Amino acid sequence: MLPATLYYLKEMGIDVWVDKATPAMTEQQQHVAAVEEGDAHAEFALLRQQVSACRNCSLHETRTQTVFGVGNPDADWLIIGEAPGAEEDRQGEPFVGRAGKLLNAMLLAIGLQREQVFIANILKCRPPNNRDPKPEEVVECEGYLKRQIELIKPRIILAVGRVAAQNLLKVQTPIGKMRGNQYRYADTDIPVIVTYHPAYLLRSPREKRKVWDDLKIAMQVFGEQS
Ligand code: URA
Repeated sequence: MLPATLYYLKEMGIDVWVDKATPAMTEQQQHVAAVEEGDAHAEFALLRQQVSACRNCSLHETRTQTVFGVGNPDADWLIIGEAPGAEEDRQGEPFVGRAGKLLNAMLLAIGLQREQVFIANILKCRPPNNRDPKPEEVVECEGYLKRQIELIKPRIILAVGRVAAQNLLKVQTPIGKMRGNQYRYADTDIPVIVTYHPAYLLRSPREKRKVWDDLKIAMQVFGEQS
C-alpha cells in the first residue's frame, strides 16, 4: 500500500494492518510521502505544520500561535489581509474579530460563504500592539503565502487594506489610488482586486459604498475568468 493511501485511511479513521517489520512512519514522514506523490492537500497540511513551527523572525517570541489561514484549500477566491490581531492570535484563525464579521458580510454580499473562500494574511504571526508589519517580517513570511497561492490556485485574489495590497503587489501606491484597477499577482495571470480593510470601514462606515463598488469589479473580473 502506498504511504499516502495509508495516510488518508488513517485520516478517515480507518485502521489498516501494517506488517510489524515495516517501521511506522511519523506523521511528518507520512505528509512528506503524500507530498512526493503530488498531493496538493497533503502539501497544504505540511505547509501548515511548517508555518506553526516557524521561527524566521522575532514575532515567534510574542505570538500565542501562528495563523495559517482558513477555508477551502481549493477556493476560487483568496482573500488576503494584513496580519493577525489579538483575537486571531488567540483563536489561531484570521478575521475572527469585529473586522472579521464585517468581512463575512462583505463576502455574503457577493454570494460567498466564508467557508467557500480561503482567507489568509501577509503575516502569519501577530505584530505586538497590532503595529504595521516590518519589511523584514514580510520578507521572512512571503514564501508561505506564495506557496499557499501556488497550491490553492485561486481564480481571483481580493487584497483587503493597504498593507495587503502594497506587499502583495510590491508597490508603494496609496490604496485610494489602487482601487478600481485590476492587477496580476507576481508573474501569474491571477487577477488581484484591491479594496479597503474592514477595520477601516468600522472607523469610516461612509466608505462602505466604495467597497461595494470594488466588490462589483471583483465579481465582474471573476466572471470574465470563468
Ligand atoms: N486584520 C487582518 O488584516 N487580518 C486578520 O486576520 C485580522 C484582522
